[in-house]
Amino acid sequence: MKEGKLIIFSAPSGAGKTTIVRHLLSKFPELSFSISATTRLKRGDEVDGKDYYFITKEEFLHKIAQKEFVEFEEVYSGTFYGTLRSEIDRIWANGKHVIFDIDVEGGLHLKKKFGKQALGIFVQPPSLEVLIDRLTGRGTDSAEKLAERFKKARKELKYAERFDVIQKNYELDVACAEAEELVKGFLKKN
Ligand code: ADP
Ligand code: 5GP
Repeated sequence: MKEGKLIIFSAPSGAGKTTIVRHLLSKFPELSFSISATTRLKRGDEVDGKDYYFITKEEFLHKIAQKEFVEFEEVYSGTFYGTLRSEIDRIWANGKHVIFDIDVEGGLHLKKKFGKQALGIFVQPPSLEVLIDRLTGRGTDSAEKLAERFKKARKELKYAERFDVIQKNYELDVACAEAEELVKGFLKKN
C-alpha cells in the first residue's frame, strides 16, 4: 500500500474546524475524512460510521488495550475520542489522503508521529468571545457541556504556535478560500 499524506485541522471546539473540513471535502475528491471513534452520544443529524464511530466506553477501552489507536484522548471528562490505525490504512488503501478534525493535543501527537508527511493546521477564531458565541450559537451542547468546552478552549488557544500553519477563521468565505490554497500547495509537494 502506498502511504498518502495527512492534513490535520485542530483547534478548540467552536473555532470552525468541521465547517472548513466539510468545505475542503467537497472541493478535493482526493481527500477522505478520518472518522474518529468516540464514546460521546450522537447529536443532531450525525450518522454512525460517517461523522464518528459511536462506541461504548467498554469497546473503547478494549481498543486501547489492543493498541488499535494511533492517538486517543479523554477530550472531556469521561468522554474519549481517538484515531484508529485501521482508519488511516483504509483511506490510504483507497489511494486518498487523510483529513482530520481533532483536538489540539491529538493534532500535535499525529504531527509528531508523521512529521513532514503531515500538515498541522490550527484554526484560529477572532477572539475567545467570538468562539464562545459560535459555540453557543451552534446550539448542540447543554449549559454544562458548554462551560467545559469554554474552559478547555481558553487553554487550547495558546497552542497555536506549535502548529505548521495558523489558519484564521474570521470571514468564513475567506477562510475556506485560504484553506483550499494551503491544501493545494501541500498536496503538490513531493
Ligand atoms: P468546530 O468543528 O471547530 O467545533 P464548527 O465548524 O462546528 O466548529 O463551527 C462552530 C459554529 O460556528 C457552527 O455553528 C458554524 O456554522 C459557525 N461558524 C464556523 N465558522 C464561522 C465563521 N467564520 N463565521 C461565523 N460562524 C462560523
Ligand atoms: P465534538 O464532540 O465537538 O465532535 O468534538 C470534541 C473535540 O474532540 C473536538 O475538538 C474534536 O476535534 C475532537 N476530536 C474528534 N475526534 C478526535 C480524535 O480522534 N482524537 C482527538 N484527540 N480528538 C478528537
